[in-house]
Amino acid sequence: MNLTNDCLNLTEHSLQAGNKQITYYLNRKVRSKKRWYLKLVIKEGKVLVYASKAVKTEEIKNFIRNKSNWIEDKLARWNTLVKNSYELNFESGGNLPFMGESYTVTIKTSVILEKIDIEIDKPGKRVIITLPHTVNLLDLKNKESESFNLTEKALIATYKESISQFIQLEVDRLTKKIQVSYNKIKIKTLKSAWGTCTPLNTLNFNWRLILTPEEIIRYVVVHEVCHLKHRNHSKLFWKEVSRHYPSYKEARKWLTKHNILLQNSFSVY
Ligand SMILES: [Zn+2]
Repeated sequence: MNLTNDCLNLTEHSLQAGNKQITYYLNRKVRSKKRWYLKLVIKEGKVLVYASKAVKTEEIKNFIRNKSNWIEDKLARWNTLVKNSYELNFESGGNLPFMGESYTVTIKTSVILEKIDIEIDKPGKRVIITLPHTVNLLDLKNKESESFNLTEKALIATYKESISQFIQLEVDRLTKKIQVSYNKIKIKTLKSAWGTCTPLNTLNFNWRLILTPEEIIRYVVVHEVCHLKHRNHSKLFWKEVSRHYPSYKEARKWLTKHNILLQNSFSVY
């Protein structure tokens, strides 16, 4: 399920404006009464261009180039916003995201542990980080430090484990109900998709789904499992999806809206 291409009639392009490279998404299927229609908007950190067929490619490019300073300014503001939203901090009383919610961080130290241990306390909505006594607590405030990096890695490993367990249960429940079988489930870093279903029936899921609400994760599972039955996005496919997830349109909208935010969060492992 590639959101950029799946949900909208957009194609990705890029051009050079001075020393800057601008990536934009072009929609040629605009519904307008005007024969000549050209519009540019910045949405969720993406440059979207709407142009009717009568507008020549060169005209589109010039239009974008003329606005390149404005585009750059808007994108810089968006990047700052994204950075602030998912800035990791490992301080007691701070917050970390988990399945669309904000969990409180509790830091403990242990004299026995040799590795960082991270536990998700769902009922208490807490992320409990237990550090070996060799880790300097003050170091954790420094994002460049070894301790910070190790804690971030441990957190992502815990996130992957949690999302894996959740998805496994959902997939098993649904495949049983629909009576389809799959080969295996993989939790991965996917650059432009939330999930994919391969011709060999492997279901791949983006671990960053841990940042989305449970309902959204369920939708992505339904979507990919339904691909085991219908390999395309035909009417039959969506009919199958709606049978197991009636409000799928809202879920798709949510994902489109939050697409960029999720792809950019944390370092890539
Ligand atoms: Zn799909």
